[in-house]
Amino acid sequence: MTQLQSSNHGGMGAADPVYAIDIGGSFMKFAASPEPGTVRILDRVETPVGSWPDFLATVSSLIVRHVPSDHRNAALALSIAGLIDPKNGAATSANIPCITGRHLANELEIALGRPVFAANDADCFTLAEANEGVGRGHPVVFCAIMGTGIGGGLAINGRLIRGAGGVTGEWGHGPALNTTVDFGAGDTVFIPRFACGCGQSGCVDTIGGARGMERLHQFLHGSKSTSHEILDAWSGGDPAADRTMTAYLQLVADPLSLVVNITGASIVPVGGGLASEPKLIAALDAAVRKRVLNRFDHPIVIPAIRQDDGGLVGAAVLARQGRVEGHNEGAA
Ligand SMILES: [Zn+2]
Repeated sequence: MTQLQSSNHGGMGAADPVYAIDIGGSFMKFAASPEPGTVRILDRVETPVGSWPDFLATVSSLIVRHVPSDHRNAALALSIAGLIDPKNGAATSANIPCITGRHLANELEIALGRPVFAANDADCFTLAEANEGVGRGHPVVFCAIMGTGIGGGLAINGRLIRGAGGVTGEWGHGPALNTTVDFGAGDTVFIPRFACGCGQSGCVDTIGGARGMERLHQFLHGSKSTSHEILDAWSGGDPAADRTMTAYLQLVADPLSLVVNITGASIVPVGGGLASEPKLIAALDAAVRKRVLNRFDHPIVIPAIRQDDGGLVGAAVLARQGRVEGHNEGAA
C-alpha cells in the first residue's frame, strides 16, 4: 500500500529536519524529526474527519504553531488511516471521510507551500521497521500487521513498494481458506470460506487477526471467547484452546510462508496487538520456517520494535526519501 510525493524539493538533504503527522480516525500526532531515526512528538489534536476545510486548517495550524520559520522548506509527511492510489495520489479513507477523493499530498503542498508526502499507515510502519527497526539491513522486509484484522506492507532496499491501487502487502485479503486442518491421527476439520468485510470470502483476515482467532474458536468449539482468553487458555494447556491455536497456526502460516517465498523477505516484523504475544509469534515463526523453501538459521517472524511510533518514524523516512529522490510520481 502507499505513498505520495512532492514536486518541489528546494535543496534540503537527508540529514535536514522533517515533520510528520500520524493521522488516525480520532487523533493526529504531530512530530519533528530533527535527524534520521529520531522523532519528537510535539502535539496531539483531534482529527476533523467530516470537513476538508477544517482538516486543512488543523494541519496548517500545527505547522504555524510548531515549525520555526527557518524550516520553511522542511518536508512534511503524513501517515494516514487510508489508502493512497499511486497512480494519481487520490486518498480513500473510511475513518476520515473528508480526505476521500482528495489528492492529499498535492493539495496540502499547495496550501502549505512546502513539500508534502503521504502514505498509508501500514506502509509507514513498514518503512519504519525496514529503516529504523528490526528490518534494518535486510534487503526485503515484509511487515505483517496482526491486530484486530490483518494487513501488511513491503519494502525493498528500504523503499516502499507502491503497487497498483496502493494495496501492496495486503496478504489478509484474497480467498485462501476452503481447506482442511490436520490435527494428526486422522483427526481433520474442514475450514470453510467465511465471508469477509472486503466482499470476498475465505480471506486470511477472517481467521487471522484477533477477531479472526475468535471466529475460528467459535467455529471449532461453538463457544465465544476473546483472543486474550484463548491465548491465556492456550498457555495454560487447555485442550480446546490448543486445538484452536493448532488450526490458527496452520491457517496463518500457510499463506504467510507463500508471501515469504514470493517476496524473498528475510525478515517479517509483526505489528498490531497480537505482536505482543511472544508465544504466538514464536510458534508462528516456527510454523512459517517449516514451510518456506529457504532454510533460515534465525527467526524471521519477530515482533516489530516500532509499534508505538511506527507511523511517525515511517512518515519521517518517507519525507527524507522523497526530498532526496525528488519524485513526483502520483502527482495529479
Ligand atoms: Zn477480505
